[in-house]
Amino acid sequence: MDVPSLTRWIQEFHRAIAVHKALLTQLDSAIGDADHGINLDRGVQAVLAALDTHPPAQVCELLRDVATTVLSAVGGASGALYGTFFLRMATAAGPQPALGGVAFAQALRAGLQGVAQRGKAVVGDKTMVDALAPALDALDAALAEGAGLGPALHRAAVAAQAGRDATVPMLARKGRASFLGERSIGHQDPGATSAALLIAAAATVFGDPVFADPGFTDTVG
Ligand code: ADP
Ligand code: MG
Repeated sequence: MDVPSLTRWIQEFHRAIAVHKALLTQLDSAIGDADHGINLDRGVQAVLAALDTHPPAQVCELLRDVATTVLSAVGGASGALYGTFFLRMATAAGPQPALGGVAFAQALRAGLQGVAQRGKAVVGDKTMVDALAPALDALDAALAEGAGLGPALHRAAVAAQAGRDATVPMLARKGRASFLGERSIGHQDPGATSAALLIAAAATVFGDPVFADPGFTDTVG
């Protein structure tokens, strides 16, 4: 997991965000303010432009650059939360030219802990944590069983999609969607949807893609 492969991860994440931009915004229009797809597309595009202008030498530098641009260019709750995610990943990665599978999994876990802390969210609150937490549990379990990083990320991406789908019947307890109370039930969380795309992007780049369907089983309409 070196600078070029992490760059490809972010490129693949952007490609997926761009493809599903309208859907992400549609999900956010049901239980938020209809900006999630637009914000992420613009912000992650700015990240790629920044990486192109100032190519980082180390993985922690890359992750810190991603965090800085996400914080300034994405905006909204998800900008702060994804910014924190990549910043904590950078700190956990440390000054290394490359990360092995376990170190990458640990950095992702540190990112999740940052999101949970900053957002004060736990599993079941109907947020991006509901996709990330089961994904990283699956990743750790697969690596502990001796799976290679590609298959382990594949399992993580499948778990992220299941976690995302599980947000549909949940009542939102955090963020803008929580203002809707019971009316948030029946809608897929936009942040869990983009977070599942982030993990799917890693599986794609690291060799074992999932069918990256974006979900969307809106039962309320
Ligand atoms: P905003 O709500 O500011 O418009 P976005 O639309 O970009 O931000 O992102 C909304 C997503 O952010 C939600 O779908 C949810 O997954 C995530 N989110 C919002 N608040 C929190 C929180 N406190 N903790 C974790 N995730 C959150
Ligand atoms: Mg929004």
